[in-house]
Amino acid sequence: MDGIFDYMQKYDYENLFFCQDRALDFKAVIAIHDTTLGPATGGCRMWNQYENEMAAIEDALRLARGMTYKYAAAGVNLGGGKAVIIADPRRKDREPIFRALGKFINRLGGKYITGEDVGTTLKDMEYIRMETEHVVTLPTYLGGAGDIAPMTAFGTLRAMQACCQRVYGSDRLQGKRVAVQGLGAVGHNVVKQLKDLGASVVATDIDSEKVEAMVQQHRIDTTGPDEIYDVTCDVFSPCALGKVLNAKTLARLKCKIICGCANNQLEEERHGELLEEKGFIYAPDYITNAGGTIYDTDRLAVGGVSHERGKEKVSRIYDTMQRVFEIADRDKIPTYLAADRLAQERIRQIAQVKHI
Ligand code: NAD
Repeated sequence: MDGIFDYMQKYDYENLFFCQDRALDFKAVIAIHDTTLGPATGGCRMWNQYENEMAAIEDALRLARGMTYKYAAAGVNLGGGKAVIIADPRRKDREPIFRALGKFINRLGGKYITGEDVGTTLKDMEYIRMETEHVVTLPTYLGGAGDIAPMTAFGTLRAMQACCQRVYGSDRLQGKRVAVQGLGAVGHNVVKQLKDLGASVVATDIDSEKVEAMVQQHRIDTTGPDEIYDVTCDVFSPCALGKVLNAKTLARLKCKIICGCANNQLEEERHGELLEEKGFIYAPDYITNAGGTIYDTDRLAVGGVSHERGKEKVSRIYDTMQRVFEIADRDKIPTYLAADRLAQERIRQIAQVKHI
């Protein structure tokens, strides 16, 4: 990223907020991309493995834009935003840190609604709730949907089924071999649900305890964090961090489908073209991983948590994925662009409705 304003103008961001408190050693950024459809909504990431502060800002901005497209494509009436707290996710003084963020979010008066993301937990959201009502992903005893990772995983599997339908003419996952990268909150649920559907799984994580636990519970095959790119399989499922799809990894992958829950899987946009050239069927990340947030924010639109209604909406990710393929075929473009087009078309149409 060369300049912040150039970047913001390029993708038409609305706001970028910097928040700090010296006494608490607290530093965070809140990025708001687009609020045409509703308040900017998106989780709070706590992370410190950035090369520098600009990289953290870019991460927040990229993630916020992803949320705009995620909600728009999924048919949800929310805009896109994201917060990044630049700190060690293992930091122990969580109450003051998250209450501080809650105070900053409250100042925005509902323009931004936060939630859980990498490095943050439901307990952290509870601290934020002490300072502001603009938070989703809350425990059930605070009126939230509880742990949404199983729903994110369910949505990822629905996208995977739509990809299988396109490639194999059947959406059955039974007998398919899936390589899962990352066994965290979502990844381990992806594995569980894949096993329930009769798929065979080979998985990896940099945390060997997580790998061992999954082997004990689900009798999966395992491989090393780097070797996962060399596994012969039907589906490669990135469920860890972003930027894992690049020239190097795409040269190694031996699968037909790439479909996982990780955010920002393409290292750069050009890798979305490259994977198309190489013949992979790619399920764009913000389509695949919308399940948790579709389920979680359902109550904002209609009031009250309903498991059946929420799950039904998540299940429609299958149809959204099919729509992405239709647009890709119609406009002869890669799927990552077709997903953007689907989202852009909806934002344009609803902006028009708002003018009436
Ligand atoms: P998590 O932190 O619980 O899990 C991530 C896992 O990836 C961890 O177990 C970590 O050890 C592992 N990991 C990190 N680097 C790795 C590597 N190089 N190789 C293998 N494993 C590695 O996070 P999560 O909530 O499961 O989210 C995973 C991804 O899905 C993230 O990109 C997140 O943004 C995205 N996502 C999550 C949700 C959700 O509901 N939690 C929703 C949408 C998107």
